[in-house]
Amino acid sequence: MPVETETQRSRRTPEPRKFGNSLAVFLLTLFILNFVIFPALTPRPPEVPYSDFIEQVEAGKVERAIVTPERIQYVLKPEPSQTPEGKVAAPQVLVTTPVALDLDLPNILREHDVEFAAPPPNNLGWLGTVLGWVLPPLIFFGIWAWLFNRAQGSGPAALTVGKSKARIYSEGDTGVTFADVAGIDEAKAELEEIVDFLKRADRYVKVGAKIPKGVLLVGPPGTGKTLLAKAIAGEAGVPFFSISGSEFIELFVGVGAARVRDLFEQAKQQAPCIVFIDELDALGKSRGGGGPFVGGNDEREQTLNQLLTEMDGFDANSGVIILAATNRPEVLDPALRRPGRFDRQVVVDRPDKIGREAILKVHVKNVKLAEDVDLEKIAVRTPGFAGADLANLVNEAALLAARNNREAVTMADFNEAVERVVAGLEKRSRVLNETEKKTVAYHEVGHAIVGALMPGAGKVEKISIVPRGVGALGYTLQLPEEDRFLMIESEIRGRIATLLGGRSAEELIFGEVSTGASDDIQKATDLAERSVTLYGMSDELGPVAFEKIQQQFLEGYTNPRRPVSPKVAEEIDRQVKTIIDGAHHIALSILQHNRQLLEATAQTLLQKEILEGEELRSQLDQAQAPAELAQWLRTGKLPEGTSRSVLKGLEKS
Ligand code: ADP
Ligand code: MG
Ligand code: ZN
Repeated sequence: MPVETETQRSRRTPEPRKFGNSLAVFLLTLFILNFVIFPALTPRPPEVPYSDFIEQVEAGKVERAIVTPERIQYVLKPEPSQTPEGKVAAPQVLVTTPVALDLDLPNILREHDVEFAAPPPNNLGWLGTVLGWVLPPLIFFGIWAWLFNRAQGSGPAALTVGKSKARIYSEGDTGVTFADVAGIDEAKAELEEIVDFLKRADRYVKVGAKIPKGVLLVGPPGTGKTLLAKAIAGEAGVPFFSISGSEFIELFVGVGAARVRDLFEQAKQQAPCIVFIDELDALGKSRGGGGPFVGGNDEREQTLNQLLTEMDGFDANSGVIILAATNRPEVLDPALRRPGRFDRQVVVDRPDKIGREAILKVHVKNVKLAEDVDLEKIAVRTPGFAGADLANLVNEAALLAARNNREAVTMADFNEAVERVVAGLEKRSRVLNETEKKTVAYHEVGHAIVGALMPGAGKVEKISIVPRGVGALGYTLQLPEEDRFLMIESEIRGRIATLLGGRSAEELIFGEVSTGASDDIQKATDLAERSVTLYGMSDELGPVAFEKIQQQFLEGYTNPRRPVSPKVAEEIDRQVKTIIDGAHHIALSILQHNRQLLEATAQTLLQKEILEGEELRSQLDQAQAPAELAQWLRTGKLPEGTSRSVLKGLEKS
């Protein structure tokens, strides 16, 4: 990908700060010289008590004195006895501190013929006074500016507190065009319309149509929202301001609002233009009790208010279009989404099979492909992958080919890359002992056999007992044959049973279980719970929502429960347990039914470590469904009389 080019118009001016700093240093030096160093360097005459001074005056030894309220500096008459050669000795200078309010002093001095005067005015005194007033605020300001700078973390913006940090691109600057975006055709079409608004605004205005002010791109991460925005910048031929929502939020309250104001001011000057705010949720979070932090976030609220105000503040046909992207539209403030602000929502969803193939085509443009590479087949094998995952996949495959010194990227590289992305890197260095290996082999074959009999789950493509990724000691790769957008009740049950297939095989073969099934159990329980609380699939509880959906596009997020009575909570738990128990029973029953197949396949797997393709297929095709499977899949209920544990039945036989 071409790298974003930063600002063509640099708006950062380093001079003021440098100048300010050197001025401060200069003044500080002056201050130190004047008040610390100079006084220390000039010799100080010895100090004597006031009474000694008066004594010396009365003895007629004092020649002259300089009197100030704070001190008296006086000079003694040269003593003739000390200078036998007739040389005049340097007059001895002494200092004393006067006793306050000695009103007799002038008289005494005059009586004894002492020449006295006030000191000559000090010419530099004013400097001290001025510095005394000016320096402290200067130092304070300097420290503040320094702290502020550090807080901004981005260099010389000390004196540009509220300036927006928007990067400005002009036409084509981003190096991305609509040709680089594939597989999300609906979203692309909508945005092409926006580009048309900007290019031929008069046409829309003539018929009285209002150009939309704000367009909100929503969708899961990695689906190409930011990429689309950049493509618009490249295609629209108008200035494009790009800023991330988080860049508005700073340490200092009020900065965000100032930035918003500044951004819109610039945009209005440059109209027609596009303003793009990425990750809008960083500043557009709903006001009024978002999450556990009571009291809210003042700064974010101010920034949001400013944004709302600015969006109202310009005319729809002024030629400024606000584009924003987020993957958490649920948390956005409702005020942001009302007509007149972000009045259009464009969903950028994960691509379907055809979309994935198109995206792959975009990304393999600069990759050398071997003859055998079939992009369609790769697209089939990658359901649920977003654009970013596919870009990553292509790169992984290319890296593999390069590491193996191949001239071109082969289909095998792509297959390995898919597994890497799905299950993590192979870890052949992790050596399992014999017992562990055996456990893992039976566990995985258990998954495979149960999975092979379940509806809508796709083919089991590969079983491996080579450790991979973070925790997987082995894995079973089962890929759906087509994109699925819904899951039917029976398929959910089948999925749960498949997840429990591994654990069930361990129970059946070894009569005891290992820790290896924790992840499966976690997933199975999640799915069972969701089918009750989210999908309303339980007969007893009915289609009542027990969860509040808070994340539409982010995976791996558990929604919080609605407040429910303890009785209902208990019922939910019971339903979940019933589903899991049923699935466990079915998995055990299937494996018991196919015990010989389980043994044979596990033994082959132990020898070969990896089973795939035709060999695996011919094995799994032999799997037989037990009698109660069909009914359980349909109703979730086991036939009368089969409710006792399969294991107990096993022990007897
Ligand atoms: P997000 O939706 O999270 O903003 P991005 O736009 O940042 O995702 O996508 C990240 C990268 O994934 C892009 O730079 C691009 O390489 C790739 N990508 C994502 N979607 C697409 C797509 N539809 N077509 C081509 N490449 C895509
Ligand atoms: Mg993005
Ligand atoms: Zn497992």
